[in-house]
Amino acid sequence: MANRNVEIMLFTSYLLAILQISSGFIQGIRIDGRCHRKAVVTTCNLHRDNEKELWYEERVSENPSNVENLIKFAHFLQGIGKYDRAAKIYSTALQFDSEEARRQSHILASNKNAPREIQSWKKTETATEFQYDTLSEQWTEFKVLLRWESGKPYAVGGQRECKRLKISDLKALNASESDHVAKSFSMAGSSSNVDVKDYFQEVLQQHVAQRFADEFNWHLERAGIQQTVSFLPVHVLKTRGGGATNVEAFLEGEYTKHNDNYGNILTEDVFPHALSHFSWRITRGRLMLCDIQGVNRVYTDAQIHSNVTSWSFGRGDYGEFGMEKFFASHECNEICRLLKLDQAHTSEDLQAQRSFFSSDEGLQAAFDTIVLRGVETFQRSDPVA
Ligand SMILES: [Zn+2]
Repeated sequence: MANRNVEIMLFTSYLLAILQISSGFIQGIRIDGRCHRKAVVTTCNLHRDNEKELWYEERVSENPSNVENLIKFAHFLQGIGKYDRAAKIYSTALQFDSEEARRQSHILASNKNAPREIQSWKKTETATEFQYDTLSEQWTEFKVLLRWESGKPYAVGGQRECKRLKISDLKALNASESDHVAKSFSMAGSSSNVDVKDYFQEVLQQHVAQRFADEFNWHLERAGIQQTVSFLPVHVLKTRGGGATNVEAFLEGEYTKHNDNYGNILTEDVFPHALSHFSWRITRGRLMLCDIQGVNRVYTDAQIHSNVTSWSFGRGDYGEFGMEKFFASHECNEICRLLKLDQAHTSEDLQAQRSFFSSDEGLQAAFDTIVLRGVETFQRSDPVA
């Protein structure tokens, strides 16, 4: 009888095993490359990750010195948790990131080297400006008059160029012109390959930077420091012919770059480096604000490193690798110590006051409202007369 029971048990487990294998097989089937049953998303994701990894490997082996592809591959590897491999790919990318490549878009700062005096201006034209309002979380658009500086751009990167311009509100009574700088992907060249989304990504990055500044200021004030830092807001312009460009206020004064996105500490100013350290700390290592530069404590053109699944802040985002680079050269200063950044995370003192930084959903929501809705607003708006 006992033998019979054992036989039944063996047979049952055999049946169960077959069922599991076959259901696994069925679950693994995908139609049009997409998963159709929620329960098997993990299985499919694994397949998809492997496929994607192979796909990236092929792209990279076809052209091993293409920095853009290498960085994308590294972002992907980081997203699926392969940190060691990602770090290697980042290193390879940076080896190829020659002087020429380093002058590309992500290090082309619009206010840096902006000429103080402009010889002549072109004639006035109309445009539509899109501004994101942080409080209402809405995009507003309004007609503006603008004048470009004559002549060549004062800064040219791989795909980007910068020009000075003056903007005034078309509707406002006695509106005065204000000085701006524009950063564009293709002001002189063809705009056919330019994705409007890139301009709204720029707004998102500066917006996230300002959220970090708000948090930092709040903590500084609590620690008794009467200093604030801020980031220039970035807007999007729609010009005649439907072209887009990013614009921000022109900064008067001495322009300083404090640190970069590759761990170089360029000044002894305590605030910018503490801000980088702080951003990493309150996001528990998920994000890091760097490439901090500007005039006095008004910063612009920051870069964010991200260590968040399926997330990237563009080509200058070196992820965890970039964060390690920062810590390899950063020495905690008096502001770091005051905010207890140099100590192990033991209290709730440094928790973010806003949920924005505490979850991937916060970032995703910001992406949806700023980038996706921004692009929609841009595309829906009337052509510029
Ligand atoms: Zn520090």
